[in-house]
Amino acid sequence: MKQQKIAVLGAGESGVGAAILAQQKGFEVWVSDIGAILPIYKAELERYGIAYEEGQHTVERICDAAEVIKSPGIPEKAGLIQVLRQRSIPIISEIEFAARYTKAFIIAITGSNGKSTSTQLTYELLRDGGFDVGLGGNIGDSFAKQVALFPERAYYVLEVSSFQLDDSLHFKPDIALLLNITPDHLDRYNYDFQQYIASKFRIIANSTANDWLIYWQDDTAIQQYLQSRNYAVCRAPFALSQYRDNYIYITHNDTQLAIDLQETSLKGKHNALNMMAAVKAALLVGVTEKSIRHTLKNFSALEHRLEPVATVRGVQYINDSKATNIDSAFFALEAMQQPVVWIVGGTDKGNDYSLLNDLVQQKVRAIVCLGKDTQTIENAFIAIQHNLVHTRSMASAVHVAQSYAQAGDVVLLAPCCASFDLFKNYIDRGRQFKAQVLALLAASETDATAQ
Ligand code: ADP
Repeated sequence: MKQQKIAVLGAGESGVGAAILAQQKGFEVWVSDIGAILPIYKAELERYGIAYEEGQHTVERICDAAEVIKSPGIPEKAGLIQVLRQRSIPIISEIEFAARYTKAFIIAITGSNGKSTSTQLTYELLRDGGFDVGLGGNIGDSFAKQVALFPERAYYVLEVSSFQLDDSLHFKPDIALLLNITPDHLDRYNYDFQQYIASKFRIIANSTANDWLIYWQDDTAIQQYLQSRNYAVCRAPFALSQYRDNYIYITHNDTQLAIDLQETSLKGKHNALNMMAAVKAALLVGVTEKSIRHTLKNFSALEHRLEPVATVRGVQYINDSKATNIDSAFFALEAMQQPVVWIVGGTDKGNDYSLLNDLVQQKVRAIVCLGKDTQTIENAFIAIQHNLVHTRSMASAVHVAQSYAQAGDVVLLAPCCASFDLFKNYIDRGRQFKAQVLALLAASETDATAQ
């Protein structure tokens, strides 16, 4: 029989994983990446004998495929995607493709913020609870590759972005978690918030009355969308009212769980919400209360998410480089108990900074702008905070921040913006911040020994 052809666009973690699964399932696979493919992925493609090209897209060969699996990073407006659409060649996401080949119970997590943290936590809750579970989606190893390598696996916890949902038609998680929806990535949605909301809700497009939706019921966008539609899915809301005096309260069947957040390392209201969502999912699956408590005690915050770096001369330095939009920076500032010297800036996505005015007024001692063009930040805050300095490198940002900070303060990197003007990505930005802080620490220790 003639082999069906599949083309995979983008040879990163998800593309290479999809290619491996497609090959295993008997397709003739062709991988195409417009950029350079990382050596580890090239080696993997070669190990499996999968044909590929890099630095170009051979359009005719791609269009010869019966179906195309697209990396979430490729926007709809890309020329090649337009050609595929014109020729009515189906385009799907890696998640859609992989889900066809597993019977595993799937917990899929989406939202504008908190996906990685909640996904990692849900995964650890299941893993520690004795479940045979894989972690995938935008985090960890490719979901498709795991489906290829571990065909019997019983559970998956997947971090799912709106971009992946856009190219998913039949994907149907058993439990969907919708953490929040605030404006982000609007450049990919014609600057239309409603389109972005609709994209997030694709997570339950195929849900039935046997499936669950865990969602934040205080979120206006979620509330309004749910009210305006009829979904069969069973609803399990969580709310800020379940967070009181540093405890979260979660009701499940006949029991009420009270969790003391002082016993966990996750800080802030946003993380209380993430915990509610993850714990609710774990309870629905059947993880025991004892195991849940054990996991929460041992869970550590992910790198670049309110990550404490060091205390230097009484000033605490916190790395929240992943705070790339207003909402995440809002929760970061809100979580701070001490006066803040705030490092902010980067590639602005059309931010409405006025949402931060109250917090800046209450908590911020000085604003250190970091980026190629930070004039909009000055315009937004200069009337309420005169201590505002522009910097263009992490070294000078940390240097200026420390000059403003007093013992007992926090220096918080929560940029509100993407990182691509000065850094490779948020990881590079966070690591440069940490390197500068550790250099400060080393210098202060040398000074102390010299005295
Ligand atoms: P995502 O994968 O959705 O980007 P992360 O867990 O990586 O989410 O966190 C991204 C940023 O958002 C971090 O700065 C983090 O502190 C902040 N954050 C985490 N959870 C939430 C939440 N529920 N609401 C708002 N901000 C959050």
